Amino acid sequence: IRTPLIAGNWKMYKTGTQAVAAAKQLADLSKGAQGVDIMIAPTALSLPLVAAALGENSPVRLGAQNIYPGKEGAFTGEVSGEMIRDAGADYVIIGHSERRQYFGETDEIVGFKIRAALDAGLIPVMCIGETESQREADKTFFILDKQISDGLKGFDLKELDSLILAYEPVWAIGTGKTAGPEQVKEVHGFLRTLLKEKYAEDLAAKIRILYGGSVKPGNIKDLMQLEDVDGALVGGASLNPEDFNKIIRF
Ligand code: 13P
Repeated sequence: IRTPLIAGNWKMYKTGTQAVAAAKQLADLSKGAQGVDIMIAPTALSLPLVAAALGENSPVRLGAQNIYPGKEGAFTGEVSGEMIRDAGADYVIIGHSERRQYFGETDEIVGFKIRAALDAGLIPVMCIGETESQREADKTFFILDKQISDGLKGFDLKELDSLILAYEPVWAIGTGKTAGPEQVKEVHGFLRTLLKEKYAEDLAAKIRILYGGSVKPGNIKDLMQLEDVDGALVGGASLNPEDFNKIIRF
């Protein structure tokens, strides 16, 4: 019932020209890939360029990496959900650990951003994950529970229908350390149960839970074999269309 989603977070890499070239190459390589949703998230600046290059009906869909939690206004430097939608994106990544770490994003802000995404008709990809010290202190489940409870405070069941969760252990991002299959299985199972208990069985069964953190062509197969892993959020390896295409074809 859950179509896997493989998403590429390009972070602050690639100019508009480079983004267009990579997106076109990926669209070419990924032709005919079945049973998988594909998304790439270039910088907001490149979204309209890449959208135009791919065309409206491309199986390669677009996402933004961030959103401002307000419709419009005097918020210098920010980008709204409506602008993201208009630029050709369907998804938006929210609460990435880099934004939490470097830009002070709290669970409350994450909640506001999810609200803004839903209001604009975007699919929110909500990122959660523990740091290395939190894991070592045995606080992983506590932290994940808190990020979900506080980030999704005040939302009702119906609203969360399109939500996608991305579990990204902070210690596995860009480090080459992937969480082992046992660790991923344990956390994704925990998250599925948590959603069931907090919301409802059918919603929990619907929500896609992606894994992120040093996903590569060489480890995607093992990850995707895990019952509660419904896709991946890929950083570094998504920058190379050939590698990303291999990941899509797990
Ligand atoms: P890496 O795949 O480079 O570890 O990054 C993961 C990530 O942060 C995706 O959002």
